[in-house]
Amino acid sequence: MAKNILICDDAAFMRMMIKDILTKNGYNVIGEAENGAKAIEKYNETKPDLVLMDITMPEMDGIQALKKIIAGDPNALVIMCSAMGQQAMVIESIQSGAKDFIVKPFQADRVLEAVKKVVG
Ligand SMILES: [Mg+2]
Repeated sequence: MAKNILICDDAAFMRMMIKDILTKNGYNVIGEAENGAKAIEKYNETKPDLVLMDITMPEMDGIQALKKIIAGDPNALVIMCSAMGQQAMVIESIQSGAKDFIVKPFQADRVLEAVKKVVG
């Protein structure tokens, strides 16, 4: 069965790009969120197999959202999406329970490699 993935990023074009990569490779995008608060809401609503979480988002950033999701579901699988120069935040995310990270600008191969490694 196709794995259900939740995409969280404040940039609509970024969500569209990731969705395109995933759906072309047999994954199901079960939801999208444009900030951390929505990410938590959508996570609880859709119970996805995997979350792709942008770090920099308005209202609530991806690290706070990650921490809250993990607090509610310690088995949550989350991959962080970072920009160049966010090493400290990537480390904090991994220490907070994120399984992997990908760095923008995204290459489809790297996105798929991370997704496959974490969720199959
Ligand atoms: Mg962002």
